[in-house]
Amino acid sequence: MDAKQTALTTVLVLGGFAVLVSSCSDSDDGHHAAAGTDKHAAAPAAAHHDAAHAPAAAHHADMMKAHTSAPARHHGGHHAVHWSYEGEGAPWNWGSLKPEFSACDEGKSQSPIDISQVTISALPDIEFNYSESPLEIVNNGHTIQANYAPGSSMIVGGKQYELLQFHFHSPSENTIGGKAYDMVAHLVHKAEDGQLGVIAVMFKAGDKVNSMIGKLWLNMPEKSGVTNQVPSVKINAADLLPPDMTYFNFSGSLTTPPCSEGVNWIVLATPQSVSTEQVKQFTHLFPLSTRPVQPLNGRVVRISN
Ligand SMILES: [Zn+2]
Repeated sequence: MDAKQTALTTVLVLGGFAVLVSSCSDSDDGHHAAAGTDKHAAAPAAAHHDAAHAPAAAHHADMMKAHTSAPARHHGGHHAVHWSYEGEGAPWNWGSLKPEFSACDEGKSQSPIDISQVTISALPDIEFNYSESPLEIVNNGHTIQANYAPGSSMIVGGKQYELLQFHFHSPSENTIGGKAYDMVAHLVHKAEDGQLGVIAVMFKAGDKVNSMIGKLWLNMPEKSGVTNQVPSVKINAADLLPPDMTYFNFSGSLTTPPCSEGVNWIVLATPQSVSTEQVKQFTHLFPLSTRPVQPLNGRVVRISN
């Protein structure tokens, strides 16, 4: 942000969280365009398979083995530490766990970030074409994830991204004005060229029960590596979305190894509500599920006007 922009800075309060806003001439827009036209584009297909759409069963069998035995390094000299949020597999070690995780250390546009300075921009509207999906819900050892049936997508900036899955973190990974929300849903989409687009929906805990979350938690497996197929229960990802579609947009990465970059991040500014008890039900299974915020390295965060 240059001096001229800083001079135009005002404070915008969104969902109770304050961020610094600067206005920016539209001539500048093409420059940082992350929505749909991100020049980093295509996250590797393999990365997507690993982390974003995680069938995770094999991985999990492995991981549970590592957890139930003595330190992995004592087994045949093979040091296999699996990524996690604490101990040897903690976020600050992700980049050195495997060569294919190097972006976690060396990447220059990593997620999550703190959203504290934003530029108002004429960002495209997001068109959601979500239809119902039979419930398939996975405990992959890191989070609860609902895998989505093919045929639901979003269109942003003329680019179509198919919805693959959504999952949760508590507290939220991206922070707004230095503060995390109580929980976040990440709706992971993939475009035909391989680029990932993630919609983040923030949740603020209170008294009000969220019926969509209720439906999910009722069917979530408590054991790591277990998938529940519940075809009699239909879900619609549209039920996670807030009524107001104001969003923050920036280029980032997967927030879990392999931390692949080129992800088009769309963080909705309006939080949804969830009950404190519902957040506890998730954190009971996953006390830690949040990667610390990463340096911006000059990236611009834009907000739709
Ligand atoms: Zn996520």
